[in-house]
Amino acid sequence: MKAPLLTFEEALGQLLASARPVPEHESVGLLDATGRVLASDLVSSIAVPPHDNSAMDGYAVRCVDVTQPGVRLPVSQRVPAGASPAPLAAGSAARIFTGAPIPSGADAVVMQERCHADTDGVAIDELPRLGQNIRRRGEDIEVGASVLSAGVRLNAARIGLAASIGVPQLNVLRRLRVAVFFTGDELREPGEALGPGAIFNSNRYMVRSLLAMLGCEVTDLGIVRDDLTATRDALRRAAAAHDVVLTCGGVSVGEEDHVKAAVEAEGALSLWKIAIKPGKPLAFGRVGEADFIGLPGNPVSAFVTFVMLVQPFLCRRMGLRDVGPVRREVPTTFDWLRAESRREFVRVQLDADGRAVLHPRQGSGVLSSCAWADGLLDVAPGRTFAAGELLPYISLREAN
Ligand code: AMP
Ligand code: MG
Repeated sequence: MKAPLLTFEEALGQLLASARPVPEHESVGLLDATGRVLASDLVSSIAVPPHDNSAMDGYAVRCVDVTQPGVRLPVSQRVPAGASPAPLAAGSAARIFTGAPIPSGADAVVMQERCHADTDGVAIDELPRLGQNIRRRGEDIEVGASVLSAGVRLNAARIGLAASIGVPQLNVLRRLRVAVFFTGDELREPGEALGPGAIFNSNRYMVRSLLAMLGCEVTDLGIVRDDLTATRDALRRAAAAHDVVLTCGGVSVGEEDHVKAAVEAEGALSLWKIAIKPGKPLAFGRVGEADFIGLPGNPVSAFVTFVMLVQPFLCRRMGLRDVGPVRREVPTTFDWLRAESRREFVRVQLDADGRAVLHPRQGSGVLSSCAWADGLLDVAPGRTFAAGELLPYISLREAN
């Protein structure tokens, strides 16, 4: 089978079109919700704040009682936060504190810096405006308002918002179950001796870290020998009870590359040649009930392919609505004079002025370029540019 040549958009489009969000939901406590994906819209059954309350430490008054600056009023009650005040007696002021409920009848709060208290009352030094320094019931959230939509990732502010409407548990999608393995007789684990011809299995730790940051539940089958039977066995084990099988290496067309043949034997496979740089073929298919994704072995290709294509696919399968990658335009500090036939994702770092600086070594084996980079510059096929021109930039801050 000859690999079809796909554009980046075609490959991403096909991946996203086939990505079904995990169907199962579960309920988790707010303290366990960080990073999870909300499964259903969250609707508030209460108003936030639940009562009109004071935005200041000061005095609650009726505006009609303060006819001119300097009016003196007796202090009829004291209202700290958490209190349940009596109605404000006409012609009096209530000592009040930030967050405390406004006594009924009061229609303004004068901050304490504009008042003079003494033993038998308080002088109000300014003419209050109706409603001043009062935070209205429902100002943040009204009863029945939808506060979070299904498909958002739960972060600190969203979890705080759920707590503010009194919800102790959230309905989230179950975690995506991903099985991984790494092919190559040359691979050794960090900590092992590096014999002749061997290299360390860097992709394992990179991919595991990427998956951990996405919030996937990972089963790691480690290193699998360059051998068809071993690869088929690993595939079958990986496919059982997992949503996605992700492998690294062995998808080129060399005779030591068995992943392609193994997936074809155990399931179905498309081997895509995508017109991007770096990036060798990306294998995409199915084994049993699981989706199969075969990343290229070259560490930089694996990293860029993961971030640009696999991550959006996994995010969609996790049920996220926004799957990225998000681009913004940044100026560059360098010229790009040679037009490339493939779309190139160039490792760059933003300087103090927000301009993209090029990593000097862009080879697909140079993982230090990815470790150094804070983002990828997205250079379209055929594009040339001069320093100062604006180009799309994809932040890696969340990916690495
Ligand atoms: P392959 O796709 O298996 O032909 O591998 C392409 C290149 O990536 C070779 O130089 C491999 O040694 C290297 N490579 C493959 N897998 C890994 C891995 N897990 N960690 C680091 N390098 C790898
Ligand atoms: Mg290999």
